[in-house]
Amino acid sequence: MLAEEYEQMEAENGTGQSANAKIIYDCLDENSPFYEKTKEAYFEEADAIELPTDEILLQEMRGKNYPFGGNGANNFLGPLNSAGKKINRYYSKLKPYYVKESDSDNTLIFESRFESGNLRRVLNIGDNQYNLILKYDHGTTTYTQWYYFKVSNTRKDVRYKFNIINLIKPDSSYNQGQKPLFYSVKEASKPGGVGWYRDGENICYYQNSMKRKGGGAYHTLSFEVTFKNDDDEVYLAHCYPYTYSDCCELLQKLCTNETKDKIRKTVLTKTLAGNDCEMVIITNFLSRPEEIALRRAVILTSRVHPGESNASYLMHGTLEYLVSDDEGARYLRDNFVFKVIPMLNPDGVIVGNYRCSLSGLDLNR
Ligand SMILES: [Zn+2]
Repeated sequence: MLAEEYEQMEAENGTGQSANAKIIYDCLDENSPFYEKTKEAYFEEADAIELPTDEILLQEMRGKNYPFGGNGANNFLGPLNSAGKKINRYYSKLKPYYVKESDSDNTLIFESRFESGNLRRVLNIGDNQYNLILKYDHGTTTYTQWYYFKVSNTRKDVRYKFNIINLIKPDSSYNQGQKPLFYSVKEASKPGGVGWYRDGENICYYQNSMKRKGGGAYHTLSFEVTFKNDDDEVYLAHCYPYTYSDCCELLQKLCTNETKDKIRKTVLTKTLAGNDCEMVIITNFLSRPEEIALRRAVILTSRVHPGESNASYLMHGTLEYLVSDDEGARYLRDNFVFKVIPMLNPDGVIVGNYRCSLSGLDLNR
């Protein structure tokens, strides 16, 4: 479907680039054609993660929709491997979709199959230019905007051009000077190295000729960048990523035996995919229960929309402050009960959605 959309755009633009365009990344449906040439398997069967054989457990799984399963339960159960065991589509090691033709092949190698990653497909349209297509929010054909992926096999001092061609927002602060975010593994590993930084030139965001189903048009984010290192791994993102794992790690750090008099963690509910949606309660627990009962409650939530990762940084700082020894924080704990749900939509964050949960719904609409 996405390829057809792209072809339609090409036809309308009359750029004649289709003939040279080559799909060099697809994270979902397609097996890599680049392995057929080399007679290598795209996936190593030995790396496939086997499902439990317990029939009851399998029955339970059949009743659920799993995020990476495509058609749901059937895909999750997957084919049989040579040992006759059921395997799913999860692999302990992932091979890149694209295989370099030679050492001098400087095609960028893309990857988005990691937590919160989002990049559906990449077309190399020649001259170090790439057209990128994002994954819709799981179960929808409407939402795109969050992107998060890695490129490797970079060349220093080469100018690359990226066009993300199926964005939905009608306007963007990219047109008011905002720059895309980058994270270079090589730069970060240097002493005093930087983490995420903003970079890119000739950045623009504009409506393109692709029509969206149900009305409206897609938009393109286009930018150029020169990488600082050869053979680097560079991540690109819509906003500073903050994953479900980051959130769990923070809560584990904050909620310990030593801090149990000011913060306690509980599971508010289980998500569709079976993840914990966690809630923390912050107050001065040393007070008498009847005192605590009289305190006013303050409810804070964030990340109902997975693409707004900036909210998680606010929440991170808020939680650290509320459990701190600061005089103001003590006052707040003595006088209020905070009920905080730092990540309301863990599944959406995990699969790299922009707005929805696994139900395909925008949860605060
Ligand atoms: Zn929002």
